[in-house]
Amino acid sequence: MEQFINNGDGFIEITCYFCFEPFEVHLEVSSESFFKNSEIIDCTVCCNPNKIDYEVEESCISNLLITDGND
Ligand SMILES: [Zn+2]
Repeated sequence: MEQFINNGDGFIEITCYFCFEPFEVHLEVSSESFFKNSEIIDCTVCCNPNKIDYEVEESCISNLLITDGND
């Protein structure tokens, strides 16, 4: 699994599950040492819903998984 590290502001570039175009999303990061979250964010290119499951460790996003959000 790929690791995604950002600088703590929550902005991260992902690749769309549907059209494979990169686009930037903003994910919630908190000052908690560790938490898990999932969000559905529509692609800015093809408008399909990307389900983003991710973990945050000390304000850095890790274990980011993008799947079909149409469930
Ligand atoms: Zn797309």
